[in-house]
Amino acid sequence: MIQAQKGTKDILPSEAATWQRMEDIARRVFSLANFQEIRTPVFEATELFARGVGDSTDIVNKEMYTFEKSERSLTLRPENTAGVVRAFIEHGFSRLPQPVKLWYKGPMFRYERPQAGRQRQFHQVGVEMFGSQEPSADAEAINLAVKYLNELGLNDLEIEINSLGCPECRKKYREAIKEVLKPYLKDLCEDCNFRYEKNPLRILDCKVESCKEIFEKEEVQKVILGDFICEDCKSHFDKVKEYLTALNIPYRVNKLLVRGLDYYNRTVFEIKSNNLGSQNAVCGGGRYDSLVETLGGPSTPAVGWAMGMERLYSLIEKSETQKADVFVISENIAETFKIVDEIRASGLSADFDYAARKFKKQLEKASKSAKYALILMDDELNTNTVTLKNLETSEQINVPRNSYLEKIV
Ligand code: ATP
Ligand code: MG
Repeated sequence: MIQAQKGTKDILPSEAATWQRMEDIARRVFSLANFQEIRTPVFEATELFARGVGDSTDIVNKEMYTFEKSERSLTLRPENTAGVVRAFIEHGFSRLPQPVKLWYKGPMFRYERPQAGRQRQFHQVGVEMFGSQEPSADAEAINLAVKYLNELGLNDLEIEINSLGCPECRKKYREAIKEVLKPYLKDLCEDCNFRYEKNPLRILDCKVESCKEIFEKEEVQKVILGDFICEDCKSHFDKVKEYLTALNIPYRVNKLLVRGLDYYNRTVFEIKSNNLGSQNAVCGGGRYDSLVETLGGPSTPAVGWAMGMERLYSLIEKSETQKADVFVISENIAETFKIVDEIRASGLSADFDYAARKFKKQLEKASKSAKYALILMDDELNTNTVTLKNLETSEQINVPRNSYLEKIV
C-alpha cells in the first residue's frame, strides 16, 4: 500500500473545521489592519532561496527539496518571504503607495527529521510589510501576530525581542563574538564551526547543550550582553519597545535571539506559546531591510513574520465538524432534488439518501448527520406539506410545503 510520505500528513475532514477557523481568523485580523493576501507559487528558482534565505542557513544547506527540470534547478519553497519579495520586485510594487502590506498562508517544505510539531510539508501563515523603516512598523507586525494568536484563543504568550543592529554595528558585534569564541572553537559543534566562518552570530542560535554552556561563560556573556548597537539602531529599538508597552504587549529582550535566517537586521522576535511540548515556538520574524535589494529590487525596508500552523493547530481548541442543517427523507428522488435545491438556495445545507432506502434507514442516517429531518413521504406529497423533525428535541411538526424554511432555526 502506498502511504503518505514521512513528514507529511493528511488534514482530515474531522480536522478541516479547525483549519478553516485558523484561516478565517487570519483573513479577518489581517484585513482589519488593511493587509492584502498574496499567493505565490510553491516552487521557485533554487537561486532565489540560496540568495534570499542565505547560504549559511540550515534551510538552504540541509533542508531544501531541490529538483531539476529542463536544466533548471527548482526548489519547493521552504518559507515564503523570498517568494513574496520576488513577487514584490517582479510586479513593480515599489511604485505602489508604500507601505505595501501583504499576508499569505500555504504549505512550505523542509527536509527535516520529523517529530512532534516538525514536518517536511507544513503550513505557515505570515505577514510582510514593505516600504516603512519606522519602528512603528515593527511594533505593528508584532501587534498583528499577537492579535492573531489571541483571536485563536492563545493568550499565554512569551514574546522575545532583540535588535541585531545594522550592518555597521553588527560588524563590530560579529568580530567581538568571533574573538571571544575563538579559544572554544574545538569545543563548539561542527555546525558552529561552520557558522564561525560564514555567519558567526548564528552560533548563538545553536541548540546543542555543550555549545549553550559555552555561551554561559562569563567572558562570552559579557560580549553577548554588551551594547554593540549604534545610536540609530538603539533609538529604533527603544521606540519599538515603547510602542509594545503602549500596546500592552509584554515582551522580554533576549540577547541570544538571532533567528535562523541570514537576512534580518535590527528587530528580530519570536513568540512562544506556553501550552505546547518541546517545539513551542509558534512565530518568528523580524526586519529585513536589505533583502529586496539583495534580490535585485530597489532598496526597500521591510519587516515580517511567519507562524507554523500545525503548531497552532495543536494548541487551539478544536472546532466540531458541522452537521447538515437538513436531511430530506423521501422515496421520491425527483421531489427530493427539488426540495434539496430549494433548501440549499436559502443558504442552509441539505443532504439526502441517494438510494432512497426504507424510511427507517433514512431516519437513522438523518439522526447521525443532520439537525433536522424533513420528511416528504406519500402523506406529505398528497397534502402538499412537509414534516419537520428536530433531531435534537425529537419535536415534530407538519407544515405547508411553502413555509417550512422559516421553521428551521
Ligand atoms: P525551528 O527553530 O523550530 O526550526 P525555524 O526558526 O526554522 O523554527 P522559521 O523558519 O522562523 O522557523 O518558521 C516560522 C515558524 O514556522 C516556526 O516558529 C514554526 O512554528 C514553524 N515551522 C518551522 N519549521 C517547521 C516544520 N518543519 N514543521 C512545522 N512547523 C515548522
Ligand atoms: Mg528550523
